[in-house]
Amino acid sequence: MTSPSHTLRTDVVIVGGGPAGMLLSHLLAADGVESIVVEARSQEYVGARVRAGILEHSSVELLRGAGLGERLDREGDEHRGIYLQWPDERHHLDFVDLTGRSVWVYGQTEVQKDLVSARSAAGQEVYYECADVALHEVESDRPAVTFTHEGRPVRIEARAVAGCDGSFGPSRGAVPDAVRSIWERVYPYSWLGILADVAPSTDELIYAWHPDGFAMHSMRSASVSRLYLQVPNGTPVEEWSDDRIWDALATRLGHGQDGWRLEPGPITEKSVLPMRSYVQTPMRHGSLFLAGDSAHIVPPTGAKGLNLAIADVALLAPALADLVRRDDRMLAEAYSDTALRRVWRCTHFSWWMTTMLHTSEDPFDAQLQLSQLRWVASSEAGRTGLAENYAGLPIGF
Ligand SMILES: Cc1cc2nc3c(=O)[nH]c(=O)nc-3n(C[C@H](O)[C@H](O)[C@H](O)COP(=O)(O)OP(=O)(O)OC[C@H]3O[C@@H](n4cnc5c(N)ncnc54)[C@H](O)[C@@H]3O)c2cc1C
Repeated sequence: MTSPSHTLRTDVVIVGGGPAGMLLSHLLAADGVESIVVEARSQEYVGARVRAGILEHSSVELLRGAGLGERLDREGDEHRGIYLQWPDERHHLDFVDLTGRSVWVYGQTEVQKDLVSARSAAGQEVYYECADVALHEVESDRPAVTFTHEGRPVRIEARAVAGCDGSFGPSRGAVPDAVRSIWERVYPYSWLGILADVAPSTDELIYAWHPDGFAMHSMRSASVSRLYLQVPNGTPVEEWSDDRIWDALATRLGHGQDGWRLEPGPITEKSVLPMRSYVQTPMRHGSLFLAGDSAHIVPPTGAKGLNLAIADVALLAPALADLVRRDDRMLAEAYSDTALRRVWRCTHFSWWMTTMLHTSEDPFDAQLQLSQLRWVASSEAGRTGLAENYAGLPIGF
């Protein structure tokens, strides 16, 4: 016999306790709006996922403004720009000189830790390890979310539901097919990403075009490096031994070029990440609001995924506060159009960086890519365009 359903009421049910969901609960609480977070996985699992590592200028400002910047300021690493390179040439693009804006290296795992500790300290209600999460009556003013928690059915009724459950959660599918539009691009390559216990061989990120494929040198801290190699889709991770990875990285990143050396070290994590662009519109349907990866996915080349999730939530929190506290629907009704302006800008930038840097079998494409890279590195307009998009446009752009 199943136990009787337990019914709760709150202002906003947030489906998904990743960065979008936890930051939304934090911003709503600051505006006096109550929420309950419903997460499918355990707190440990969500906290340990190694994903994004670059915060845009506006994301840093927002986190600081929300009282979440203390450890970021202490342990994060501010970068003035990136290196762009192809065989025999490496160019530094200084975002601060070009746009007055910098970026920060601070892992998503750290952002998540800061959010969880701030929300725990404030007594935020979060249900972890929920099964059968389902959304109901999202077209009404009294939507609900049901799930099973510790074997017990739970129903939460609210004024709004925030779908922050990434690309595999139920929220995006709660928008009927007749209403939603989906735009998608699947790229013919993936990233083999590693984490290594070795000091970075560079002070700022290196984005490298190479005839063997794209490579990138990033970092998580003064003693942990994060590096990526372009590999064909469907590549089994076992095909890449540690030695093979370091050899390919050395070749593509230009070990020995102008005396530069890539220092190898013990690899602690290895995974293959397929690349795609995806946008689902509208981002609001009735009382359901999508934010972050539930509405859009970008390939990681432009470092936009986490930043877009933060920017969505920065718009959504005041819209929900107006809706819940004042019954003022203006921002809620504008949310999808406003958020999508930035979503499409970042979708374009991520596609542009990806197609400029990843090689195909086509020698004509290779010449076009090299021409574009030379233009970006040598022209003030080219450099500034990349810098403005990478360091990020203001929230609300
Ligand atoms: C493997 C990987 C590597 C990445 N690497 C980079 C990178 O290098 N650079 C970069 O900029 N971006 C990267 N990204 C993208 C970036 O991590 C995301 O854009 C960011 O996590 C978006 O945050 P989110 O909160 O919207 O979604 P998520 O972080 O996906 O959070 C969604 C949450 O919803 C939960 N959930 C799922 N289903 C349910 C359900 N049924 N019920 C309740 N909860 C549910 C999930 O467990 C998760 O905790 C990567 C993404 C992935 C998947």
